[in-house]
Amino acid sequence: MDLKPFFVKPGSKLKLEDFKTGGKEFFEEGKKQGLEDLKKNISEIDRLQEILYAEHKQRLLIIFQAMDTAGKDGVTRSVFEGVNPQGVKVVSFKAPTSTELEHDYLWRVHARVPAKGEIVVFNRSHYEDVLVVRVHELVEKKVWKRRYRHINEFERMLADEGVTLVKCFLHISPDTQKERLMDRINTPEKQWKFNPGDIEERKYWPDYMAAYEDMLNETSTDWAPWYVVPSDHNWIRNLVVSSIISKSLKDLNLQYPAPVENIEQYREKLI
Ligand code: AMP
Ligand code: MG
Repeated sequence: MDLKPFFVKPGSKLKLEDFKTGGKEFFEEGKKQGLEDLKKNISEIDRLQEILYAEHKQRLLIIFQAMDTAGKDGVTRSVFEGVNPQGVKVVSFKAPTSTELEHDYLWRVHARVPAKGEIVVFNRSHYEDVLVVRVHELVEKKVWKRRYRHINEFERMLADEGVTLVKCFLHISPDTQKERLMDRINTPEKQWKFNPGDIEERKYWPDYMAAYEDMLNETSTDWAPWYVVPSDHNWIRNLVVSSIISKSLKDLNLQYPAPVENIEQYREKLI
């Protein structure tokens, strides 16, 4: 799949309104074909994750940021459907605890980055510290502004030390969010997901979009690029994210480790 339409070129000055939330124009073959391609990506991710784990050398960090209901949980469930749970961890970042607030904002994040052979998915991340924190003025402007530089340097350090970073902004329209919140209110099995706070948060939509736009422009780098994923349709969102992840895994040129020396001799010893 051509990922260029979703890629945020480092150093660009993009306007978020130029990015589609629907994205059907990129998938003229339609949903049926899209779901088949998704299935192929999922099994490729499964295959490559096994080698990443066996190789025990490289690390993959995937970051999902999005407005409520865009599908951070849903895409994680879909894309990692087949993988061995030993090698994949999901970390959700909530409002910081009092202990976390005693430290710098990257402290809790650094502790959860992947170890050798692991894939870690961040459901929210240090980017909350330039998003919700900015929108709700939890710190002064000069404090959140300088965080772009910290974040770029932190991520560069991770990349230098062998972490591959992939960052996805799941982009939905406000109308889609409204439909999904209504669905959570109306569907008994989804009511547990409904948080009245999400209705309040919706009022800040333009402020969030401004914060996301700056985040994308300031922190898409050669070593940790952002993708803007059209997320109004689950199948398109899942297909694009699975394509990004399977490409990132392929680019790692993963290899099974060499077997023990003279493995053949053990045939006779195995009694
Ligand atoms: P959810 O992901 O829906 O369970 O919600 C988690 C909540 O934690 C969201 O409202 C986030 O905005 C909030 N959150 C996450 N990180 C931070 C942070 N660094 N500062 C303030 N709020 C945060
Ligand atoms: Mg929520």
